[in-house]
Amino acid sequence: MDDLEDELRASGSVFAEDEARLLSESATSEAELDSMVRRRTSGEPIQQIVGWAEFCGLRIKVEPGVFLPRQRTEFLVERAIALGDRGDTLLDICCGSGAIGVAVATGLGRADLHATDIDPAAVRCAAENVSEAGGRMYQGDLYEPLPRLLHGRFNLILANAPYVPTGQLHLMPREARLHEQTVTLDGGEDGLDIQRRLITEAPGWLAEDGRLLVETSDRQAGTTMDLMKEAGLVTTLATSAELDATVVIGRR
Ligand code: GLN
Repeated sequence: MDDLEDELRASGSVFAEDEARLLSESATSEAELDSMVRRRTSGEPIQQIVGWAEFCGLRIKVEPGVFLPRQRTEFLVERAIALGDRGDTLLDICCGSGAIGVAVATGLGRADLHATDIDPAAVRCAAENVSEAGGRMYQGDLYEPLPRLLHGRFNLILANAPYVPTGQLHLMPREARLHEQTVTLDGGEDGLDIQRRLITEAPGWLAEDGRLLVETSDRQAGTTMDLMKEAGLVTTLATSAELDATVVIGRR
């Protein structure tokens, strides 16, 4: 165990002690442990190696290439649970692993959860996570794969869509750059291409008094708010200094 810890530490792991324990617990054989350690010391995120990430106290299934739920995004979940009601109809759009939708559905106690994503690897993970929470997963671009009968029905639409400006992708941490699909991060020239499309179409999918919650950055928040106002939503800004998180909320 000490050797394993030393090896992880030498490769640059800040949490070598925890990771050594996690990898030994996850591996079912000596050979598997060796391969897991090799993957970790060559820079693969620990969550993608063990197959799950912790988010809002839940274990969310992830696999190589899939966007890892960020701790900052727990703020969006917290705001959504505060605004939602038991039994709400939820949409997690650009859902990645499905972590946000699952955490909000769990927090509300009961919910009719729907989730969409365009990336096949994300859809594979999310299908498991979302169905475990009693929800339905659809593959496709934004709202396109949803059944029409859900039009005007969502009490909450939850979005952590890609919002990194293309020119800043190279500034992302190595684990994100090399081990998450670019499509899950790249938001185009100003980072807001996907937000722009999903906000414009949101009012039609929201129930009366329904809310759209969009994670964005401090710097981009003004534009995200303008987009929501242009779409006719009543807009508020929520921030958490502790989690370095910014969420724009629009109400129909
Ligand atoms: N800056 C964000 C992060 O890596 C980007 C997330 C995203 O594009 N959705 O946490």
